[in-house]
Amino acid sequence: MPFSKLGLHADLVRATRAMGYTEPTPIQSQAIPLILGGADLLGCAQTGSGKTAAFALPILNRLLEHPRPGLRALVIVPTRELAAQVETALRDCGRFTPFKTAILIGGVGHHDQRQAIAQGAQVVVATPGRLLDHLKQGSVRLDRVELAVLDEADRMLDMGFLPDIRDILGRLPKQRQTLLFSATLAPEVERVAAFTLRHPQRVEISRPSSVAEGISQVVYPIGLQQKTELLIALLEATQIRSGVVFCRTKHGADRLARKLKERGFSIGLLHANRTQGQRTSAMEAFRKGRIQILVATDIAARGIDVREISHVINYDAPRHPEDYVHRVGRTARAYGVGDAITLMSPDEQPYLTAIERFVGIVFPRAMLPNFPYTAPPLLTAPKPKTFRDMNWGRFRRRFRR
Ligand code: AMP
Repeated sequence: MPFSKLGLHADLVRATRAMGYTEPTPIQSQAIPLILGGADLLGCAQTGSGKTAAFALPILNRLLEHPRPGLRALVIVPTRELAAQVETALRDCGRFTPFKTAILIGGVGHHDQRQAIAQGAQVVVATPGRLLDHLKQGSVRLDRVELAVLDEADRMLDMGFLPDIRDILGRLPKQRQTLLFSATLAPEVERVAAFTLRHPQRVEISRPSSVAEGISQVVYPIGLQQKTELLIALLEATQIRSGVVFCRTKHGADRLARKLKERGFSIGLLHANRTQGQRTSAMEAFRKGRIQILVATDIAARGIDVREISHVINYDAPRHPEDYVHRVGRTARAYGVGDAITLMSPDEQPYLTAIERFVGIVFPRAMLPNFPYTAPPLLTAPKPKTFRDMNWGRFRRRFRR
């Protein structure tokens, strides 16, 4: 179904054309008519599915169809980077509309944010902490909000934002439409949905554990001591146009970035101890292609949206299977093609097993030819030990064919 048949205002359909979207993605074609119809929505969709436009377009549609002053739509997101990305999407979708948006995030001054609100922003994108600051100072009022979105709710819960979210929701008018998007429908997410949403419609785009098609996933087993050397050799051997290298800790990311720089790579660094200015300029340089590699931790990388990411490299295997899906979701966004490489030291095998069970695939193991391995890498995945360890996702998929 084309965008013109979803019930959107002509100026929004025009914007989709201007953005080069030829047809709605599945989450858009399912969610947009439901949201336009006024329903609360529980959307399970992974990064790269087009979920941002799936709520941005109906928000703008409502503002266009029923013009009224005041702050009317609120989008709450877990991280600053995601906030910036959502705001950009709102501006892009709203390029033929007169509405102003404001972004309320930590790490930057309050002044411009207060001014954006005072100048009549109708849509606000905010991280929970900063929004609460503004609410407590009285610089933002939510009494005219008609539509609230909780984006990446699973991640907000992981980051401990539940009390803040409760506080914010408690300040919203009872009469409102609420949309909750999450990459997974874990029981905690369902619990939040239960007290946030009224008779919600559910839209589930793919199995929560799935990784977008078009991504090739591979594991390089390697001894801990040789990880950095292998990464460097891989970066040199592979044509990496734009890659994100994930580390588990901030210090690990600092260390790795330093080593890669010493070896002549152009590197950007993204983690929670970097200032907002540093993060923004790293993202900007990456987006413009001035740097090829971004070294990042999970939280900081949450909002990265660069269409052209060719590789995601897990320098440290993610400790939670969901993080794997989020990390790998950075590549092959909007159904492009990408590669996901995981470097796995022997102590990380249990994490890999958990990830493989979660996504329902046993990843191929690979070794880099001519690399001076000090010990031969183990190129087979461990056999399932128990009945429960068997790979049910894979079985299910085989039977469906
Ligand atoms: P999201 O899942 O919202 O983070 O979107 C992922 C990427 O897909 C963004 O770069 C969007 O600009 C892009 N996108 C969203 N909707 C469409 C569409 N209908 N056609 C093509 N690209 C899209």
